[in-house]
Amino acid sequence: MTHSHVSLASLTTMGVGGAAGTYIEADCEEALIQALREADGQGVPVLLLGGGSNLVVADSGFPGLVLAVRHRGVQTSGSGSVIVEAAAGEPWDELVAWAAARGLAGLECLAGIPGMVGATPIQNVGAYGQEIADTLVDLRVWDRSESRMVTLPAAACHFGYRSSAFKVTLRNRYAILSVRFALRSGLPDMPRQGELARQLADLGEPPSVTGVRDLVIALRKAKGMFYDPTDPDSCSAGSFFVNPVVSVEHAEHIRRGVSLDMPRFEVDARRVKLAAAWLIEQAGFPRGFRMGRAGLSTRHALAVTNRGGASAEEIVGLARHVRAGVLQRFGVALAPEPMLVGLALEGEASRP
Ligand SMILES: Cc1cc2nc3c(=O)[nH]c(=O)nc-3n(C[C@H](O)[C@H](O)[C@H](O)COP(=O)(O)OP(=O)(O)OC[C@H]3O[C@@H](n4cnc5c(N)ncnc54)[C@H](O)[C@@H]3O)c2cc1C
Repeated sequence: MTHSHVSLASLTTMGVGGAAGTYIEADCEEALIQALREADGQGVPVLLLGGGSNLVVADSGFPGLVLAVRHRGVQTSGSGSVIVEAAAGEPWDELVAWAAARGLAGLECLAGIPGMVGATPIQNVGAYGQEIADTLVDLRVWDRSESRMVTLPAAACHFGYRSSAFKVTLRNRYAILSVRFALRSGLPDMPRQGELARQLADLGEPPSVTGVRDLVIALRKAKGMFYDPTDPDSCSAGSFFVNPVVSVEHAEHIRRGVSLDMPRFEVDARRVKLAAAWLIEQAGFPRGFRMGRAGLSTRHALAVTNRGGASAEEIVGLARHVRAGVLQRFGVALAPEPMLVGLALEGEASRP
């Protein structure tokens, strides 16, 4: 289906963004590939769209083709570990629910993350100590450079913390068509993340896959990290900044200057990861901090939110202000987690 003058604000959870030059919803692989072939052949820029939950689009919109990936389907194979292949347009949380209902473990801590299956490899979606790199086997993609279908093994994705090759060296090269995960029957691993692990321990019995999923969703709802258009705290792109990795010396300098209780997580002998939300709050931006119609979530300082009718410039203006404050106070340059389309923070290249 082809449409013109479709507003990207209506297709993204942040609720900002001007019109798409052209908008196509592809409900089968063939339609997706056909639209890509034509656009690439004519040199038309393409923005692949899943659920729009990790995108901040400029008020001027996107001048090329916005191609919504909407083909669905889930298949299983294998014995021992169960191989689940999900189409890129399958809603992610529905896949997690489907797996949990069958007692298949491996995705349950990722419950309640908005968006589609096809976008999950882009930033190696993760939460509560689990990430898709833990279970992803391979993915089928359309290679836009060579006009052919390819299967990429997990190793080719170069997954890292909230990153993959699709965000860096392979950006815009592939359209992800389907993803295969290796899940296992039985009890889930005991989650590593403190808050979730504590709550599960309070239950007093080994958690089921469904039990973990339900608890994760409850935790997300309490933090405004479960997308609900009527809850302004969730009208965001999730965490706006990734947790920064700094040298042990730099972290120690901040810790001594601010608080000995500073949260930090060892990466290796020389580097530690800091909590971006903690840095933001310590730099003077409490939860609920507002600049016009943009504000930090009242329940999570890491989420930049649209409080109602904000423009993309207002959203990015707040993000720039917070980033500058953290840089000035701690010498740490926060990097954005969502894809910015036609927008840039200081020192960031405009995308795509
Ligand atoms: C309330 C809330 C909570 C969130 N919590 C988390 C969290 O806990 N952990 C986490 O990791 N993320 C979280 N996110 C971010 C987001 O939900 C994930 O990154 C999600 O995977 C994005 O999926 P999407 O389909 O909405 O992608 P979109 O926003 O539509 O697209 C994101 C990027 O992927 C590209 N893309 C989309 N589909 C394809 C495809 N088929 N092939 C190639 N490229 C494609 C797009 O072009 C774009 O660059 C949260 C977001 C919100 C709003």
